[in-house]
Amino acid sequence: MDDRLKKVIDESENIVFFGGAGVSTESNIPDFRSESGLYHAQQKYGNSPETMLSHTFYKNNTEMFFKYYKENLIYPEAQPNDAHKALAKLEQTGKLKAVITQNIDGLHQKAGSVNVYELHGSVLRNFCERCGKSYDVDYIMDEAHCKHGIPHCECGGIIKPDVVLYEEMLNENCIQGAVDAISKADTMIIGGTSLVVYPAAGLINYFQGKNLVLINKTQTPYDGKASLVIYDSIGKVMRLE
Ligand code: NAD
Repeated sequence: MDDRLKKVIDESENIVFFGGAGVSTESNIPDFRSESGLYHAQQKYGNSPETMLSHTFYKNNTEMFFKYYKENLIYPEAQPNDAHKALAKLEQTGKLKAVITQNIDGLHQKAGSVNVYELHGSVLRNFCERCGKSYDVDYIMDEAHCKHGIPHCECGGIIKPDVVLYEEMLNENCIQGAVDAISKADTMIIGGTSLVVYPAAGLINYFQGKNLVLINKTQTPYDGKASLVIYDSIGKVMRLE
């Protein structure tokens, strides 16, 4: 682990981690805004990820929505990387109280993290819009359960991923839990996020603690507020020997 980060962690007693898509790029899941991210790679759809993943697009172009969603947001083979693993270990020591993530890939839990606030939901959970029955990701990916690529429930309703689409509200309990954890923390470690997606990025303003650490490959609008900024790969920075 980076020495500067280790020193901060050693001095802290109540840490929260806040992360985004950059936490999972080392697990081979592309983010949105990096060179290799979905913004740059997806010209073939003619629309930005924000349009393709909006509530309006889901309602009006459901078949296209699921084509994009299945091709770009589901990574069944992805495994937790060194950052996910280090955070799970840090929670076990009692110092890390919560992971707050914008990611929808479930990799923090796969690494062993328990107290995880998934601000934007999870691709692993899916619900029938008509009867509410829940389905796992394998079910919705199986063409046998789809009509024109759109997953259908046994009752005939469309199955919607439990993912917060653009234009949709974040879950209130989830936001409240995240705000509580951030407000109590003496240290907030932020990693792998461009900090431009709201309201998620605005949660930083609830932090009143001493150490604000930013770990990102590129600059963010909040760098000036941080007590420590590390421009590097988060897996490398957090890796435990
Ligand atoms: P973003 O793509 O806007 O920003 C990612 C940031 O992480 C960039 O600033 C990039 O420089 C940095 N980064 C990339 N790889 C890194 C690494 N290995 N180490 C350190 N920094 C790294 O992502 P965002 O801010 O999370 O916002 C995008 C939205 O897209 C989020 O709402 C999220 O829900 C969604 N999304 C999620 C996933 C996922 O679940 N894995 C993947 C793509 C997009």
